[in-house]
Formats: sequence, C-alpha cells, structure tokens
Amino acid sequence: MKQGGLVAFPTETVYGLGANALDEYAARKTYAAKGRPSDNPLIVHIADYEDLKKIAVNIPPETDALAAHFWPGPLTMIFEKSDLVPLGTTGGLDTVAVRMPSDPVAAELIRAAGGFVSAPSANTSGRPSPTTAEHVENDLDGKIDMILDSGAVDIGLESTILDMTVTPPMILRPGAVTADMFAEVIGPVDVDETILKPDSSQHPKAPGMKYRHYAPKAQLMIVEGDLREEIFAIRQLAYEAHRREKRIGLIATTETLPFYKYGIVKNIGSRENEKTIARNLYRVLREFDEEDVEVIYSESFAVQGIGKAIMNRLEKAAGHMRIPASEIAAKQKYRRIIFVSGTDSARGPMAAELLRNQDLKQEYVIDSQGMVVLFPEPANQKAEAIMKSFQMTLEKHISQMFDGENIMDDTLVLTIDENQKRKILTDYAQVKNVFTLNEFVQDDTEIPDPYGGPLAAYGECCEVLKKLIERLTDKLNLLAKGEEPQWEKYM
Ligand code: AMP
Ligand code: MG
Repeated sequence: MKQGGLVAFPTETVYGLGANALDEYAARKTYAAKGRPSDNPLIVHIADYEDLKKIAVNIPPETDALAAHFWPGPLTMIFEKSDLVPLGTTGGLDTVAVRMPSDPVAAELIRAAGGFVSAPSANTSGRPSPTTAEHVENDLDGKIDMILDSGAVDIGLESTILDMTVTPPMILRPGAVTADMFAEVIGPVDVDETILKPDSSQHPKAPGMKYRHYAPKAQLMIVEGDLREEIFAIRQLAYEAHRREKRIGLIATTETLPFYKYGIVKNIGSRENEKTIARNLYRVLREFDEEDVEVIYSESFAVQGIGKAIMNRLEKAAGHMRIPASEIAAKQKYRRIIFVSGTDSARGPMAAELLRNQDLKQEYVIDSQGMVVLFPEPANQKAEAIMKSFQMTLEKHISQMFDGENIMDDTLVLTIDENQKRKILTDYAQVKNVFTLNEFVQDDTEIPDPYGGPLAAYGECCEVLKKLIERLTDKLNLLAKGEEPQWEKYM
C-alpha cells in the first residue's frame, strides 16, 4: 500500500479495498479495480483518533462524544477536508468521509500503511458488498494486489454515514449505528429523506447512494404486508412460478422457512435477532446469483434499529420493486382448506391428499382435522394402502383434533358429513365458511364410511372422494379464474 498497491482487508462491516488515502494515483486505481464511477467518493479509514485532525478541518464539538461512543466502530462521519487529502480520494468534493474500524486486523493494517487508508467496499461496483474474502476474490481477483482473509465479517452491512457539516448532523446512509443511538449522545439528528424512498427527483446526499447498488443478477421483489399476508403472497407467487416452470428464489427467515415448498428457499436469519439478517443479506444475494434464478421474492422487515439499514439495502437491491401482499390476497377467496371427518384417520386425510394432487390454479394450505381425535395417530393402514395404489401417500399424516383455532375468513371448512358441520356451526361461531363436501360441490353421492370394513371398502370410499374432489377442483379453479391477477407483473 505504501507503494501504491491495493489490498482488500476485513472490517467489522464489510471487506474494504484499501489504498493509501493520500495518494491520488492509488485512488484512481481503486476506482478502476471496482469499475466505480469516480464521482463516488471513498471513505478514509484511520486507526487513531488524533489522526482525524490531520485530514479534517472545522470539526464540530459533538464529534468527540460521537467518537467516544461509536469509534472504533461502524460509523463514518463527514467533515470539511484538509489540504492533505487529494480530491481524487473525495471524488472532487471538499468534504471527507472518515471512519475508524474496530476490526483489529484493519487497525494494524491502517497503522502499518501510514495511518490513512481509503477503502470502498471491496466488490465490483453494483454487486452486493463482500462479507467474506471469497466474495472479494470472486469480484476482484487479478485486479488487486492482495487479500487479507480473516473470515466472515461481523455486521455485514456498510457503516452508518453521518454528515457532520450540517446542523443537526444528518444520516446519509443507515447502518448498525441508528438515529436513536445518536440521539442518546448528541440529541436528535436528521435523516436524508431519500434513504427508503424510490429514486425520485431528489438526489441522495451521499453520492454513492444514487447508484443502483447491491444488485443481484435476478430481479428482486420485496413483498410487503403483515407477516401472515406476506407468507401467503409469497407462497402464491412461488406456486405460480412453479406452474410456469420458472426458477425463482425466496428470501425467508428461520421462523418462516417451513411455510415454503416451491422455489429455492434461503434462510436469511432469525426475526428474533435481526443482526443475523444483516450479517447474511449480501451472502444470500450472492448465492442467488450462482443459482441462476429469474426472480427473487423477499419478505420485508421492520424499519426499526438495524432493520432500517436492512430494508435500505434490500430496497436498493430491488430497485424499489415492491409487491403489496394485499394485491394478491384480494384475488383469493380461500387460502386454506380443512377437511373435517370423525377421527381424521381415513376420509379426511384422503380427501386432503387427493386435493393436493389436483391441478389447482391457486395455492392452498390443505389440511385435515377430526371432531373426535383422542390422541395423535398415523393414518389408517388400509386408507394408506389405497392411496399408495394411486401413487399418493398419507405417510406424513398425523391425526389432529378440530380446534376452531386460527380459522379466518379465508379458510374453507369442508366436512364429510352433516353432523360434523352442525357441530362446528353450534360450537364455533367464528367459523364462517363451513359446508359439507357434498353440499359445496353440489353432488350428493354419499361418502361411505369404510371403518372396520375390508380394503375394498376403503377403495370404494376413495373412488367417491376422488369424484367429489375433482368437482371441488373445478369449482375452486372457477372461483380463482375470473379473478386471476396479472402474474406477469410479478415475474
Ligand atoms: P463504500 O465505500 O462503498 O461504502 O461507499 C462509500 C459511501 O460513502 C458512498 O455512498 C459515498 O458516496 C459516501 N461518501 C464518501 N465520502 C463522502 C462525502 N464526502 N460526502 C458524502 N458522502 C460520501
Ligand atoms: Mg460500496
């Protein structure tokens, strides 16, 4: 670096591409290696607080308190620059962005290299920032002199940028240090309005924030709504893509992972600990690039704490493409279907499995429950044998008592006989859509009870169910038909 070379190194936020910040020529090389527009200034990294005075002038008094709280750490502050800093490093601006990283490898490197290291993220411009040395290698191998590998970074998102040249200071880029944290130290700060908004006439104040940054190869779309709605919408989008044989990716969380069956599903972290989401975001986006997916659907996250930085980066990666979950919900009359029988061991589970194997235009959560289930049991063996003969299975089925819980207006309850329907209507006032299967499909072929009978009785029962489920499929598809959304818009 002393000789003008470029060295990628770890920091607690992301890997940086280091160069001597006081060497204009090294800055030019940095821009070339990244393919970055040279009006996008670099951040100067220091290891010792006294060094700030050498590169910045008119440092406001609040700086001491901020540095005492957040340095070394994921905070970049912008000051008027001193003459020591070449304009090549600051993208022609007379201000300089300064950060003191906390990673000890970074601190030692900065000291050894002379104290002032310019370092943008060590990725090709426009790609997700690197959170491992491999990411750097994938992007910049052959274009830089060295990579210091010290494993995966801690935070995973770039530093918070705070402009100290205005009063009160203004957040230009959200990061791990949040507005609330600043408020506790120096009182309220401003936030650049463009941070979470689609590109408008307003230009972001940090030059780098105007570029479509952090972009994966596939189109990323953020699904927005409350979490239950997001899950249903994403399930439907993934189902539709599956029917069209499109390769798609889903960004899910530890808590929501089990709800998704179609597409390439990646766990971005836990909603209980949003730091894990920040840490994994760029890795997941990079992994999707390797998977060759056409579209990626992501759940959205609360814009509090580090959530604001997460959503800011996601929005940028998505080019602000959002899908309101309500738009999809509006087209779906039912989203969940429960077949209710007596013991939930034969007819109910068979009906459910038959429906799962139909060509449905819409995706449903299909379950079965029983009115008298004393303890959870696997399906009746004869029922299973019959299903096997049709290449279906009740293998995973465990009988479950009807509990009337979580039944909303989007749930369709179909009972095998009249008694079950009557009991639900009397006992569960909140259950709106309850019909006998016969009634719902307008076909009164009696569903025989095979219990205690020979295998053949289960076979006959299954034949009747099959016919009714085919009629049910037609009815559901008709319900979905006139109302079908324009899927192209989302794909
Ligand atoms: P990166 O190094 O890739 O994290 O990008 C650095 C970010 O800091 C970019 O968004 C820059 O536009 C921003 N930045 C650096 N210097 C300044 C400055 N003097 N004024 C405003 N923003 C800056
Ligand atoms: Mg960057």
